[in-house]
Amino acid sequence: MDIAERLAQERRARLAAERLLDLKSRELHAANEKLALHARALTEQIVEQRHAAASARSQAEVLRGQNSRFLSDLERAHTAAVMAERRLWDSINTIRDGFAVFDAQHRLVMANKAYLRPFEGHPEVRPGIVYADLAQLCAHRGVMRIGDEPPDDWAARMCARWDLDPIPPQDTQFSDGSWVRLIDRRSRDGGMVTLAIDITEQMRVVAGIEALQDGFVLFDSQDRVVMCNDRFRTRYPGAEEVTRPGATFEDLIRDGLSRGVYAEAEGREEEWLAERLSWQSMPEIDTEQHFADGRSLRILERRTPDGGRVGLRIDITEQKRREAELEAARAAAEAANRAKSAFLANMSHEIRTPMNGVVGMAELLCDTALTEEQRLFAETIKSSGEALLVIINDILDYSKIEAEKLTLYPEPFDLERVIHEVAMLLQPRARGKGIDILIDYDMFLPTRFIGDPGRLRQVLTNLVGNAVKFTDSGHVLIRIVGIEAEDGLQQLHVTVEDTGIGIAPQHLDHIFGEFNQVEDAANRKFEGTGLGLAITRRLIERMGGAVWVESDPGRGSCFGFRLALPVAEGAPPMPGVPITLRRALIVDDQFINRTILQRQLETAGVETVVCRSGAEALEALAQGSAVDVVLTDHDMPEMDGLALAAAIRAAGHRQPIVLLSSNPAAARAGTGAQYLAATLQKPILRSELFGRLRALSVTEAPAPPPAPVSAPLAGRAMRVLAAEDNRTNQLVFGKMVRDLDIELEFAANGREAVDLWHSFHPDLIFMDISMPEMDGKEAARAIRAAEASSGAHVPIVALTAHAMDGDEAAVLAAGIDRYMTKPLRKSAIVRMIAEMAPPMARQIGATAED
Ligand code: ADP
Repeated sequence: MDIAERLAQERRARLAAERLLDLKSRELHAANEKLALHARALTEQIVEQRHAAASARSQAEVLRGQNSRFLSDLERAHTAAVMAERRLWDSINTIRDGFAVFDAQHRLVMANKAYLRPFEGHPEVRPGIVYADLAQLCAHRGVMRIGDEPPDDWAARMCARWDLDPIPPQDTQFSDGSWVRLIDRRSRDGGMVTLAIDITEQMRVVAGIEALQDGFVLFDSQDRVVMCNDRFRTRYPGAEEVTRPGATFEDLIRDGLSRGVYAEAEGREEEWLAERLSWQSMPEIDTEQHFADGRSLRILERRTPDGGRVGLRIDITEQKRREAELEAARAAAEAANRAKSAFLANMSHEIRTPMNGVVGMAELLCDTALTEEQRLFAETIKSSGEALLVIINDILDYSKIEAEKLTLYPEPFDLERVIHEVAMLLQPRARGKGIDILIDYDMFLPTRFIGDPGRLRQVLTNLVGNAVKFTDSGHVLIRIVGIEAEDGLQQLHVTVEDTGIGIAPQHLDHIFGEFNQVEDAANRKFEGTGLGLAITRRLIERMGGAVWVESDPGRGSCFGFRLALPVAEGAPPMPGVPITLRRALIVDDQFINRTILQRQLETAGVETVVCRSGAEALEALAQGSAVDVVLTDHDMPEMDGLALAAAIRAAGHRQPIVLLSSNPAAARAGTGAQYLAATLQKPILRSELFGRLRALSVTEAPAPPPAPVSAPLAGRAMRVLAAEDNRTNQLVFGKMVRDLDIELEFAANGREAVDLWHSFHPDLIFMDISMPEMDGKEAARAIRAAEASSGAHVPIVALTAHAMDGDEAAVLAAGIDRYMTKPLRKSAIVRMIAEMAPPMARQIGATAED
């Protein structure tokens, strides 16, 4: 080996070594760097970890703080919870209602004092007791009032309730009488929470409502039953089922309808239901309901403030039965009363018929030549008979009113004339006692009205008759005033005032009763039935008026009545000739008379000079009082009217003198009568007075004497047929008309009357109504039927003792023209014949004077 080579080799080896060294040093450097990086990373990590540890430490600090706060909060919360629970229990213990909690095994967990109170003295009732044992204890140990139910059954029933879902409330009563309503609710853990609500007060109200005799029901505003008592529930059988709280009123009604319990709904159920439901809107219902089983209920309902209704159902079955009985009794009594009235009417008919004979014959007897004694007897028979007839008439009238058979027959009439006639009728009796009857008819009052003149006459006759009867001296004044109530209707006030014995205040009401009289020594001497005022009152009331009385015992009475009557149209105007007398001298010792006369004359435009006595009148005339007529009363003390007339003429005065007298016949026969221009009957009828004054205005001379009543006349005698079955009455009738120039035939019954109508051709038929075979009405009908073809019409006048109302209508319906009630008066018969006389007949020849 060469050196070069070895050198080369050595260089190469050195170069290689150098390169390796370089490599190794680079590698070391790299490793160093890496190490340095790693060391730095490590350091950083350590720093970081140190930081983390520090923050963990501070977090732990915070947590520790929080923890300790939480623990103290927890402690406080626990305390609060314990307190709350205690407070809750305290509250639960203070309430009146019981509260208890049972666990899933139905063991009592806890109960408040109210729950446990009934179990005082039963230490076993405490937390832990099983509900079933509690129920047993309640049933067997007298804690509860369980009625007749066996204790085991009761306890079993109470336990079984807890298996129901939901558990219905149960009302139970403790042995001390208090009540609770048990309300049980299952808890989520299978336990039971029980409330025992004290309902003692409520049960008291319920017990009160149950104790009611009547059905009670309370509905809410939706018409649902809130509560009702047993009586309501059982108001009809089967209704108990539907009648429970919650049922609507309509449910109840429909249920009843489905059973057909409502008698009045039969056949129109839906309509009835609608009607019944419509009542619900009314604030009050008070009605009666009748059930198909015969029971009746009174239904009373009122709205309650909350929009509901409270109602009562009162069983009025018994009351209805009694009412029906009373009604039947009343009907029977009324029937008996009607029978009595009919009996009275028949009796009075029966009595009137023979009375007709008695009075009629007595009247005829008086017309014959009699000794004084015989005349006294005959007149007594006549007046007693007439008095008896008045009584019979009263009884008949009263029975008519009682039987409600009294009918009024209104027609146009002259009231003033009616009053005048009544006064005239009673004039003789008044004159006999020396008392005056005065009429003061309101000057401005019309005289014609529409009313029943017959009944008004009866009322006035009774009042004026009483006034005359109970007055011994002084006067009876009839005063009539009126005010226009409305168009065409006058409110009349009629008073009858007397100066008689008067009536004590305690008797004033009593006298209007039936058969009532003032019974005392002063009164006993007066006869009468005591029916007059009772009839008067009833009649006036039937006419729509009222009667009253005022009295001053010992000084007089004033009876009055008020009546509204329509004014009759077409009243005849006062006769045309005016009164031209300007001044009249009135002479009367009585103040009332003077005043009435004065007023009457002054309203007619005549001036008056008024004197109290004849002497005063003569004095006035002597002093030159220019008067055109002298009106003087007849009966005056010292100088009477006739003496005055003579004195006036003696003094040379020529004025016509008119005498006003209650006894014109005596006046005309007295000395001095020749000086009179006229004598007027007192009381004076206004129209008569004015008529007389008018006549004096025209002629200034006494009125001409009345025309003769009969004048001979050619022609045949009037033919009169009298159908009358009663022999006595035939006799009476015959005698009554014997002075008349007529041809008279009698028929003994209706059939004979019809036959005689054919053969005798009467101008007038008097027809008795009740006759055998064919009665008067039938006969009249037969005659009218037979006349129908010829167009003839014979006047038929019914004669009847039957004066029940309704008869008149029936009689007139049979074609009868007029109607006369028995007993017959000669004057009335004669007047009727005169009126009905045909023109071609001879004058009948007698006057129709009473
Ligand atoms: P009568 O007159 O038939 O007894 P009334 O019914 O007419 O029956 O009268 C009843 C009673 O009233 C009379 O009995 C009498 O006691 C009393 N009375 C009626 N009117 C008067 C009167 N004007 N004055 C005094 N008493 C009278």
